[in-house]
Amino acid sequence: MAAPTRLLSRLAVVSGGGSGIGRAVCQRLASEGASVVVADRNEESASQTLETLSRHSKGQEHMAVTVDVSSRESVEKLVTIIQCQYFQPPSVCVSAAGITQDEFLLKMEEEDFDKVIQVNLKGTFLLTQAVSKALVAAGASKGSIITVGSIVGKVGNLGQANYSASKAGVEGLTRTAAKELSRYGIRCNCILPGFITTPMTDKVPEKVISKLTSMVPLGRMGEPAEVADVCAFLASDDSRYITGVSIEVAGGLFIG
Ligand code: NAP
Repeated sequence: MAAPTRLLSRLAVVSGGGSGIGRAVCQRLASEGASVVVADRNEESASQTLETLSRHSKGQEHMAVTVDVSSRESVEKLVTIIQCQYFQPPSVCVSAAGITQDEFLLKMEEEDFDKVIQVNLKGTFLLTQAVSKALVAAGASKGSIITVGSIVGKVGNLGQANYSASKAGVEGLTRTAAKELSRYGIRCNCILPGFITTPMTDKVPEKVISKLTSMVPLGRMGEPAEVADVCAFLASDDSRYITGVSIEVAGGLFIG
């Protein structure tokens, strides 16, 4: 079956596009016809993602840009580069950049708490704000902001006080953004992945992974492409009456 082309002539920016979920999102949005800006702090992996992106038409142009989402200056530069290149702001914005610095609460260094909040929560705020401001300034009639939280933001997880706090924050940020930006036609939604096979989870010991997997009703870890599928739906007009929601992509983990 041919892939749907719901995103023809859309421009999308994806932070964390160099790896894992972000890379799969770039590939899926491109396969649906969007021009994709792969934004990552890792220049090499962003370029590798760029190499894999498909093109449907002459007008579909992708690019890779290095960014540190925790820096306002860097994020504003990213949006300026995009506007210079495409003469418009991105109407689809996916914040998938994220990090972990796991440690039990009793031992967690303040620095490691701050680092995770800076990238996961503040980074999502900075990119969401910069893209929304550009869309409003350009008089755009619609936009789709997609943030990536985590199921862990809802239920907590051993060793992840910093990470779970950052992801709970991302959900609250997204709901507020949805309320404030709907008047501009900008929808904001959050995806909550469960346990997905990526370089981030490669770091988790095998023993822990098999314990976690045994708790998933669908009986396995998720694939980045399964998160990307939901992202493409939220980016497209198929979700035009949906804003301010969080969608779990977690194989049924923690149902009810
Ligand atoms: P990943 O493979 O580690 O990819 C994250 C990407 O973000 C990497 O390329 C990373 O670059 C980049 N990045 C980190 N800090 C950045 C910064 N300050 N500015 C720009 N880019 C930065 O992780 P993933 O598993 O795909 O995770 C993607 C998102 O999904 C994250 O927000 C994560 O919290 C969330 N999530 C993942 C899971 C899961 O099970 N995998 C579950 C729930 C939520 P480096 O390679 O240089 O670090």
